[in-house]
Amino acid sequence: MTLAAYSPRSLPEALSGLFQLALDLRWTWHHGSDELWRALDEETWETTRNAWLVLNSVSWDRLEELAEEPSFQERYREQVAAHHQFVHANTWYSDDCTGDLGQGVAYFCMEYGISESLPLYSGGLGVLAGDYLKAASDLGVPVTAVGLLYQQGYFRQAISNDGEQLEFYPYNDPTMLPVSPLRDVDGQWVRVVVPFPGRSVRLRAWKAQVGRCQLLLLDSNDPRNEPGDRGITSELYTGDPEKRLQQEMVLGIGGWRLLSQLRINPTVCHLNEGHCALALIERALSWQQEHQTDFETARTATRATNLFTTHTSVASGFDHFPRSLLRLYLAPWLEAWDLTTEQLVNLGSESAIAGVDADGQCLNMALLALNMSGRINGVSRIHQKASQRIFQPFFPRWPAEDIPTDFVTNGVHTPSWDSPESDAVWTRACGKDRWRHPLQLSCPMSAVSDDDLWEMRRLQRNRLIHYLRRRLSGQHCEQNPANNHAAACGLLLDHETLTLGFARRFTEYKRPDLLLKDQERLLRLLASRDQPLQIVLAGKAHPYDHRGKEIIRRWKAFSRRPDVEGKVVFIEDYDLGVASQLIQGVDVWLNSPRHPWEACGTSGMKVLVNGGLNLSQYDGWWAEAWNADVGWAIRPGATFEELRSSNEHDLADSRELFDLLEHQVIPGFYDVDRQGLPRKWLQQIRASMDRLTATYSANRMVREYVERFYLPMAEQGKLRSPETAAEILGEQRELRKRWPHLRFSSFHVTGSDDNQTYTVEVYLDGIDEQRIAVELVAEASEYGPRTVTAMPMQHPLSGSAHSYLYECSVPSRPEGHYTPRLRVCDERLNLPLENPAVLWLK
Ligand SMILES: *Cc1c(COP(=O)(O)O)cnc(C)c1O
Repeated sequence: MTLAAYSPRSLPEALSGLFQLALDLRWTWHHGSDELWRALDEETWETTRNAWLVLNSVSWDRLEELAEEPSFQERYREQVAAHHQFVHANTWYSDDCTGDLGQGVAYFCMEYGISESLPLYSGGLGVLAGDYLKAASDLGVPVTAVGLLYQQGYFRQAISNDGEQLEFYPYNDPTMLPVSPLRDVDGQWVRVVVPFPGRSVRLRAWKAQVGRCQLLLLDSNDPRNEPGDRGITSELYTGDPEKRLQQEMVLGIGGWRLLSQLRINPTVCHLNEGHCALALIERALSWQQEHQTDFETARTATRATNLFTTHTSVASGFDHFPRSLLRLYLAPWLEAWDLTTEQLVNLGSESAIAGVDADGQCLNMALLALNMSGRINGVSRIHQKASQRIFQPFFPRWPAEDIPTDFVTNGVHTPSWDSPESDAVWTRACGKDRWRHPLQLSCPMSAVSDDDLWEMRRLQRNRLIHYLRRRLSGQHCEQNPANNHAAACGLLLDHETLTLGFARRFTEYKRPDLLLKDQERLLRLLASRDQPLQIVLAGKAHPYDHRGKEIIRRWKAFSRRPDVEGKVVFIEDYDLGVASQLIQGVDVWLNSPRHPWEACGTSGMKVLVNGGLNLSQYDGWWAEAWNADVGWAIRPGATFEELRSSNEHDLADSRELFDLLEHQVIPGFYDVDRQGLPRKWLQQIRASMDRLTATYSANRMVREYVERFYLPMAEQGKLRSPETAAEILGEQRELRKRWPHLRFSSFHVTGSDDNQTYTVEVYLDGIDEQRIAVELVAEASEYGPRTVTAMPMQHPLSGSAHSYLYECSVPSRPEGHYTPRLRVCDERLNLPLENPAVLWLK
């Protein structure tokens, strides 16, 4: 690592603007500058898609040559001007968003999938974070993202001859990644220090420019650190809990400190998954220092503007750390404060809310995030329900329906996933800027003819087949050196055959083997003479996931059968680059997760813009999006409860999947008229593109986060001054003290067949009656849906102190169906999250 490597290399004066262009990852989705990079060094650009690497590897002679070339000069000036215009343009946030996010949003995530040239991700969570950030840039939302710069990232995959997954960890030389050292106003490289047991760990800070947003990255590979510490940020998801905790300290504590050092004081802090929950503690501690309060006041003040997004569908998916590890690692950090590791563990264990003894408990990062946040959300409607059930035990006596977990369905960054062909079609139909200001969620594809639409699909499929053959010939080279692989690969796959894609993590719950459950039937579909099917697969299994690896082996073996060869292909090393090729070219995207494990799923959303159709389990986003006009669902309309037990459904789901393929998907694709056009299929494509693309975009998702979360949270945050926070905290303590004395003293019902009037008398033990709400709750039954009806206070009861009468009228239900309850009521708080006290009559 030399200084020279970090100081900009010299460029001919006439081309100096290339620095800025190459370091703005906007080139990952906006292809205006592609020709520049190609002209500089075609081979490097085509193999790496890394503009920064291109710029750093091109020879001086080539640069000088291009600086003299008028056509290059013209293109260059055009792009520099366009970039300048982009940076200064008005946006949705500047023009159309009603509200102000003050100093903006800090977004924390363990991984970011922005480009295959910046391999800091393993899968869905990271890709979502990347798409979120790109959309925030499009919309002009002031977001600063914080993450880790992994020296090796997630493993790279190859498959051996006998189907064994091989894992490689190539080193990411940071000077070759499209990031730059983060410098302060004096030009110094910014360093952050995090206290570790018996030492301090120094972190280096980097900056990735993602359009209008910045992604700040930390790594621990500072030569002054101890050798072990230098490796903290080497790999992603190693499975070692100690290393994981170290990474979460670097990200959470280091990340917040980095923002403070840069004088960024975010108005809202958004955690994408609980891994980064320590950031919320560090945020509270720095607020505590600034305002000279205690920790609880700081927690009360800051939590209103903390948003926690959970992506996990089962409680075991959350990070847990044993106490001993925490004591060792967190004590040096907390020593300076009035906070002990015990208190911290209590904040992240059941005891925090349930009041049970916390001995022997682990710190659960999701619970810590929950106890430090003002709002929580899942990532699809079904996932909201799953999360409510996961968090229910921490809200004793609250029904799952009332658990304070919202949802924002994920979306994908459309401009990153469209193909040149679909881009042209959309531009013709709806104009150039459609993804930046989609004020209406639909764009009529009716303007596009069947011919044009089918031509688009065929071109995309063709391009995919070419890509796959090229890629496969590379894979085959290693494996079958004796074969004439160029010739052999030329015969793989067919341009006019229905192409089914399946690519994702190879792990059991995603059921990548659903089609292998009936190999004879699958063979028949593949071998059909008139209506054949071909399948493209890709995906990594986590190094410790032996079942996932076994499924890869089985697919590999299947694809090698002489009667299958060339019809089923497995593409190694699934990443953003592979994903983008697959989702552009496939006709049908298959997703078959086992519920309730898949929180949302996003890969299927990526085919929408390109006219690919989804064939998916009725689950995650597809349960919201699906209807018969836009694609196919396995087990459609399944209820949440039914889905939850669907691990018994593997065989039935597999059969249903085959039925759909055999009776609907395949015949639909080949049902062409005399012009050779599959009219009904095209109708489906049109409906899917038109109705779903904008809805399942990150653009919609980010606006939802802004309008439904960030803005109202920022408003609420403004009201939490040190004084108000202390006052709220005092009141809550008082409430907690008096709560055990509260009671119902009588309960009456009068009424007719239609209406009933319920009356309760309540003893409040001196609590201000404004702070208490009485509600009448009926669960769903044959008499109607679940209802929660407010019972307004009528008057204090004369003759008994602190007692009040509440009453309301409701449609009649049989005796025992309505139950009153008492809860805390305070507009300044998010309830029951911030105070889950509740008292039921029975
Ligand atoms: C989109 C994407 C994912 C997430 O896909 P799921 O449907 O959520 O499994 C994972 N990896 C890559 C490379 C992707 O592009």
